[in-house]
Amino acid sequence: MRARSGGLIDAHLHLQMPALREFEIRIIEETRNAGVDQLLVNATSPQDWKDVADLAELHSDVTPFFGIHPWQVNSMDDSGWEDQLRNFLTRFPESGVGEVGLDKWIRDHDIAKQRDFFLRQLTIAESLGRPVAVHCLRAWGHLWECLAQSEFSQPFLLHSFSGPGEMIGDFVDRGAFFSLSGYFFRPEKSAKLEAFQNIPDDRLLLETDAPDMLPPANLIATTLPPKEDGSPVNHPANLRRIYEVYSEWSGRDLDEVISSLSDNAANFLRKRSQ
Ligand SMILES: [Zn+2]
Repeated sequence: MRARSGGLIDAHLHLQMPALREFEIRIIEETRNAGVDQLLVNATSPQDWKDVADLAELHSDVTPFFGIHPWQVNSMDDSGWEDQLRNFLTRFPESGVGEVGLDKWIRDHDIAKQRDFFLRQLTIAESLGRPVAVHCLRAWGHLWECLAQSEFSQPFLLHSFSGPGEMIGDFVDRGAFFSLSGYFFRPEKSAKLEAFQNIPDDRLLLETDAPDMLPPANLIATTLPPKEDGSPVNHPANLRRIYEVYSEWSGRDLDEVISSLSDNAANFLRKRSQ
């Protein structure tokens, strides 16, 4: 399992979502033109696993992740999803487990059920030697406890990391990578951005989280029609501007950032012993 060398890598997005899927061919072309050659496309529930699989089969740029998002856990029952998840993961040897995690920010969360689903998905990831894409909001202590009680030893990505700065060192020791969303360059998110000063260069990735998390106007290079409810749609081709603005913000040379993040993605995706 490895990242393609030389291009930009969107470490987290949802190309299967209707707001993007409708423009799939155009998006893939515009994203390639922006120099992006790898998209880590995260499923959210058994309902979209086939869509993500189809995208991975059609486009060599897509690295699929299959999993159950904490927002979907409430509506899940226990009917055979683990076998189905293993089947998708086995069918795509380069795939990871995601988007999974814990979220106490969302209304009506059931953290016990979220922990149960998260731990069971970590177990599957460990048994197949797969990396994991993690969503965590306001549940950092729970996340740490789950990792501590799990046998899980694969690399994991804390996407759109917004956790406490004092936990970064422990997560690094546990094998974490951290991705910075273009959204964090919004002025009101400056505290989240500042935390990335403390992320080691060899654990950093960048993401759009498209179609959501629209970055500030100066990072929007390419637009798409709004969703049915009128909300704006983020385009993965905006990733180039995110790389450029990250390079300026961090004082790191852009070419060095591109090459470093390519190595980081390869390390995150590397298949470990099972
Ligand atoms: Zn996501």
